[in-house]
Amino acid sequence: MELWYNKNSVPTFDNKTSKSILHPFTFGKYRGHTLNVYQGCQHRCGYCYATYEWSPEFYDKIYAKSNAPELLENEIRKWRSGTIEPVMISSATDSYQPAELKFELTRKCVNILQKYNIPYYVFTKSSLIYRDLELHERYKDNCFIVWSITTCNENIRRCLEPGTPPASIMFKIIRNFANRGVRCAVNIDPIVPLITDSFENINTIITNCRAAGVKNVFGAFLRIRFDIWKRMKIVFKLLNVDSDLFVTNYNKLYNFTDPIRHDYNLRIDRNYEIDFMQNLEKKIRENGMTFDFPSLKGISYNKNLKFKNVDKNQLTLTNYV
Ligand code: SF4
Repeated sequence: MELWYNKNSVPTFDNKTSKSILHPFTFGKYRGHTLNVYQGCQHRCGYCYATYEWSPEFYDKIYAKSNAPELLENEIRKWRSGTIEPVMISSATDSYQPAELKFELTRKCVNILQKYNIPYYVFTKSSLIYRDLELHERYKDNCFIVWSITTCNENIRRCLEPGTPPASIMFKIIRNFANRGVRCAVNIDPIVPLITDSFENINTIITNCRAAGVKNVFGAFLRIRFDIWKRMKIVFKLLNVDSDLFVTNYNKLYNFTDPIRHDYNLRIDRNYEIDFMQNLEKKIRENGMTFDFPSLKGISYNKNLKFKNVDKNQLTLTNYV
């Protein structure tokens, strides 16, 4: 069976330089900047949204943006007076994938964000973040670690996201962060219909979140695009389910027929989503956690201020959570 990555090859690493590193984003009521210090991702998730120009290279050749720390510092220093919104590390790669062991670009960039008092989120599904526990701990009022966990079922995880660590390891690490006062959220994303949206799967994740000291839990259903759909059909085969039946059910749930159009970016049936999300919210609340994305505020930044004085303008997470 043809996989979406080269199963027998070890990813190769290369350096590249970038022209810019902070890019603005808006997501609903949230605004901020993305920071991606790697291109490509060794976690090899079949559902990955960062693969618009998909080729196995995305999973097998990882580029380190070697000038990322210098760029980041320059972009902050050249910032025109105004607000610096929170920085999201990362949106199109995983900042703590194995490449970070070799290049340490995430650690260097986090140090720079802390130096300038800029709030940040780290999105990850990697256990390597444990290396930086102390680093994030010293900034715990101004950062949020968002862990992406889709399933506690090892068989499903191995097929769906073969380069990630098991959820049991991730929850141990989350507990360590939470015990040290670092605020942790879990993003159940994507929720993969008919595969990870079972009562059992979701309950297990929520129970583990509560036990680990997670504050916020939220999630979103898988979106279907041309490249993702191709990989999902391979996942059906890997899981040994009735592929034809799953294809038919997905066609119904996402309202499309094969061959899927290249320009589609499909959401699941609205009623299916609403029913599921209402139940999810209820369970999260019953377990004493918040069903929402954790909110961080930007800082007022005047380039004439010395950064050590910026604190007085800064709103911390404690104000919002
Ligand atoms: S961890 Fe994120 S960026 Fe990496 S392959 Fe998985 S979904 Fe894509």
